[in-house]
Amino acid sequence: MNNIYLALGSNIEPRDDYLSKALESLNTHRQITVLRKSSIYKTAPVGYTDQDDFLNMVIELDTSLLPLELLDVCQSIEKQLGRRRGVRFGPRTVDLDILIYNQENRETEQLTIPHPRMLERAFVLIPLSELASELTVATAHKMVSDYIEELPESDIKDVTLWTEKGSAEE
Ligand code: ATP
Ligand code: MG
Ligand code: MG
Repeated sequence: MNNIYLALGSNIEPRDDYLSKALESLNTHRQITVLRKSSIYKTAPVGYTDQDDFLNMVIELDTSLLPLELLDVCQSIEKQLGRRRGVRFGPRTVDLDILIYNQENRETEQLTIPHPRMLERAFVLIPLSELASELTVATAHKMVSDYIEELPESDIKDVTLWTEKGSAEE
């Protein structure tokens, strides 16, 4: 059984549609099965802060694709959903990042796994912990939940559960 996690993010409307379309494209790929999805979170932008809030989620999938092949599929879905490369960390219709691919440990410019910035990002760790809070990353002694405990309180506050449009609040 594979242990593969992807992070999805969008901060250009319609954000939730972009996330569902990305999920649909992943699922219709014949070598990919989406196994589980986290909730969707509304998150404040990190790094380049002069932009709209994001919706973020994490999914677990099964695939027979190799890491670089999976990256290629992710990038073509980003392109298909209108992603334009502008400011680094800037606004995007959809971002698909490979967080974890089994025990894969590689560091190349094209692909670094585990994702090099995931352990300091509340918008990744919080949704990931819904699916795999006891998963160990980077060192055998530290789990996703341990990394969350090390985050500043202010980062955690910037990540809140998002309620879908059309539900009770409307
Ligand atoms: P960040 O990687 O900090 O989340 P970003 O997602 O905005 O930033 P992108 O513009 O989506 O960055 O990707 C830049 C490059 O990162 C891609 O061309 C890709 O080759 C490379 N990359 C390296 N490691 C990964 C990974 N684990 N998942 C996705 N892309 C990666
Ligand atoms: Mg990213
Ligand atoms: Mg990316």
